Order: sequence, then C-alpha cells, then structure tokens
Amino acid sequence: MTLPIIDGHNDVLLRLHETKSPDAARHFVQGDGAGHLDLPRMREGGMAGGFFAIFSPGAHETVPDADEDLNPPYAGALSQRAAERSALAMLALRDAIFTEAQGAVTACTTVAEMRAAMAAGSLAFITHIEGAEAIKPDLSNLQDYYARGLRSIGTVWSRPNAFGVGVPFRFPASPDQGRGLTPEGEALVRECNRLRILIDCSHITERGFWDIAKVSKAPLVATHSNAHAVAASSRNLTDEQLRAIGATRGMAGLNFATGFLRPDGRWTTDTSLDVMLRHLDHMITLAGEDCVGLGSDFDGARIPAPIGDARGLPNLVQAMRDAGYGEMLIGKITSGNWLRVLEETWGA
Ligand code: ZN
Repeated sequence: MTLPIIDGHNDVLLRLHETKSPDAARHFVQGDGAGHLDLPRMREGGMAGGFFAIFSPGAHETVPDADEDLNPPYAGALSQRAAERSALAMLALRDAIFTEAQGAVTACTTVAEMRAAMAAGSLAFITHIEGAEAIKPDLSNLQDYYARGLRSIGTVWSRPNAFGVGVPFRFPASPDQGRGLTPEGEALVRECNRLRILIDCSHITERGFWDIAKVSKAPLVATHSNAHAVAASSRNLTDEQLRAIGATRGMAGLNFATGFLRPDGRWTTDTSLDVMLRHLDHMITLAGEDCVGLGSDFDGARIPAPIGDARGLPNLVQAMRDAGYGEMLIGKITSGNWLRVLEETWGA
C-alpha cells in the first residue's frame, strides 16, 4: 500500500477553472490525465488529502516557469471584485467536485473529519485562499467564505494587495523585498486567529513574515516554501524564518517547483530528487522534524521529472528511505506533521 500523503498546496482548481469546461468537475473525478492532479492519479500516488488553493489570476501576471526570465516583472494588483468573481467560480467548481465525487472527496474543516475521510479512502479536501484579494479590506465578507469552509488564507500572493506586499519572484535574491502587512493585514491576521483560520506565510515578504509573527498567536506556517540556504530564491525561507517556524511549532512545506529547489534557480524538469532531500535535511535541521512536511505546488509549477505528477509521490518517499530517513520521520513529513499543526491551529 502506498503511504498516505497530505500535501500543503496545489493549484488543480485553477487548472480546471482555466479549461473553461462545464464538465471540469467530472474531468477531475474521472481523471483527465492533464497537469499533475486528478482523483485517480492522486489515489494511485497515495495523496490522501491537502490544501486546495483558490487563486484569482490577474490579467497578465508572469509566473516564472522559464529559464529565460528568472526575474519576471512584479505582478500588478487585482481588484476585489475581479478576485471575488474568480474565487466564487472556483468555489462553485469545488462544490461541483464534491457532488460529482459521491463521497470520494470530503470537505474538511476539522482534523477529525480529515482522519475519518482518510480512513474511509476519501480525499480530505482543505479549502485555501491564495492571496486574500477576494476578501474585502474591512473583512465584512470573511465570514461568508468561512461559512463555505475556508480554513486557510495566504494574506498575499506574489503581488501587492490591501493586506500587504507579496514577495516578487527574484533569483538570486533575499525574501526581504519591501514592506510587509498593512493595518488591514494585521486586522485580517487577528480575525483569522479568532476564527482559527490558518495563516499561510508562503508568498509574503520577509518583513511581512515577521509582521505576522508579531501579530499572530497561531503557529507560523509556510505551506509551500523551501530553504533559502539551499536555493537562493526570494520565495524561500531564511534560516532565521525556519527557526521561528520551529519555535512556534509551525510548518514549512517542501515546494516541488524546480525554480525554488535548484541552487541554480532554473526551471528545468530535468532535476533529480537529491536536491529535494537537501532542502528537507536543511529544513529539519533548522525547524525540527515535527515542523516540516510537503507542499507540492502540483498544477502550479514545473516539478522534477522523477516525480512527474501525483503518481510519482512514492518515488519521493523512496528517496527519503534511500537517504536513511526512518519510517517514523517519513510518517511525520508525509502526513503526521500537517495533522498536528492543523489540530493546533483549528482546535481539536
Ligand atoms: Zn503559491
């Protein structure tokens, strides 16, 4: 049997949304073989649950995925209305998946629900918003999203918004790229603490990370970010950030995006699994073995060919075994640590 894996980040909702097909939910459930994720391939690879991002794309932001430009232009801001339009469309797509799956996918807002879903062989689905543009700056509609199951928020994506400044994609560069949270962003963090919504620090500037550390009472979580000491992308975490994540019993999820993994910053899929182990080793050394997991970025990035898509997850598990990781540690990285931090963040 393949090891059950909980994953900190994927963009399959965006991939399906962008096909503009009225049958997108059915394509996911039956398997469309496109991108990295659909339900049959997730089952085959042992992906038992994860954070599903609702990401509102801008008109023309550049996501770095080509070696020709490791320093793309900074993405422009997106209006609340435009963000809300695509967020609601992706929520509707999510709900269509729940219906279409007939129990094979479970909407989860508690760890008890996640454990029950996993035990029943149903995919444990966590709803995450990647960049809070759809939330009104006065937070007046946050409750609506909460009622629809939202339990994880990245205050910013890699662009500016009302809540703060996202880190531009830069290589080689420090994550220290300008201002952090705005007063509205601080209020959002406080309200997420109150509602026990997880706050994801993956796309915020280093200043913003420390702003969140100051305001938030919850464990510090970067759902899909790597070690800056191994690959000097602005999207990765410094040693000091990794130590703070460990000190608050938070989490850092290993991102499979080759441009955030490789020491040369390139986006080639011709990338071996060894470099992923170098990140895991470093993240575990700094944050501790209870505070590191996986955050694939499936369907949102170019990933190493030896993984390929969800079916390749067992290859990463095997690489951990080959590197001498024991079964206990592998269990923590693949699912145990996510369940722990979610329980501490959401409440038991
Ligand atoms: Zn992301």
